[in-house]
Amino acid sequence: MDDCLDYEKPPESAGVKVSRYAPSPTGPLHLGNLRTALLAWLQARLSGADFILRMEDLDLPRVKAGSAKQIIDDLLWLGLDWDQGPSECAGVDDYYQSQRTDLYQQALLSLYAKGLVYPCYCSRKDIREAASAPHGKLPIYPGTCRNLDNDINPANEQSVNGRMPAWRFKVSDQNIAFTDKLMGEYCQNLQVETGDFVLRRSDGLFAYQLAVVVDDIEMGITDVLRGEDLLDSTCRQIALYQALDAPVPDFWHVGLMQDEQGKRMSKRDDSDSISQLRANGAEAESIISMLAYSCGLLATNQPISAKELLSELSIMKFIFCVQREVS
Ligand code: GLU
Repeated sequence: MDDCLDYEKPPESAGVKVSRYAPSPTGPLHLGNLRTALLAWLQARLSGADFILRMEDLDLPRVKAGSAKQIIDDLLWLGLDWDQGPSECAGVDDYYQSQRTDLYQQALLSLYAKGLVYPCYCSRKDIREAASAPHGKLPIYPGTCRNLDNDINPANEQSVNGRMPAWRFKVSDQNIAFTDKLMGEYCQNLQVETGDFVLRRSDGLFAYQLAVVVDDIEMGITDVLRGEDLLDSTCRQIALYQALDAPVPDFWHVGLMQDEQGKRMSKRDDSDSISQLRANGAEAESIISMLAYSCGLLATNQPISAKELLSELSIMKFIFCVQREVS
């Protein structure tokens, strides 16, 4: 880690703590999602932070009708509450990402004004073919359009050969490091590991990486607790915080719960959905206890309410148990 540039932390006295849970309403919550929600709620409540619920319904083609309402209903049934959050009427207020696209566009324009974004006309096939060594799931973008000579901007786009541009963020050749509160030190050189990444797709949809950072800045989030599948997105997000001159929050990545076959749970499989368990007569206290027991927060799986669980923990005990679970 010695050669990594650590970002500047905001001073401890900077103000109140704010945490959030940000589900995508693309299907019913399953036990795995719920364990992350419970841990985010406990982390917020044990730290005296405000807790925000935000619906990440940005990718409209993947959003399922009724899913946001079901998520709200399931969380409340389990005794997890929040200080600010969406109404049950899907997509009507500021806690739905679909209502926040003006903010994302402003951020994109401000990054463009700093010379940090550029239009890209490559198709997926072009990128696959041009990328030298595919890394992980996605090929690393080789920078084909980085130095195109044209003067379009994100508010004034033009198609080339019938194709509208995607907008990419220019990453730099330096290491970005952070210390996750639960998983420890993590460091990436984005030029080597991801290449310039997309902030707005050619179909006009804003990318998760931009939307999540803009929202977390605008909502004053100081602590982000989420599943470890997003650990690998964090350095890209830190690069955006830095480019937008915003303080970087603390990150807490938690292990994902697996099903009995050791597979990561999926929203496509309805059998473990909370609504299904509720319909089969499960009690909220049994589910809370099973989830808390599964990550070492309880020594037995005696039924317990979310409030009672909270009263048995301290933030130190929380960190100790959840850290052990992820290591
Ligand atoms: N919406 C994302 C999900 O449901 C979480 C994003 C985040 O917490 O940064 O997986």
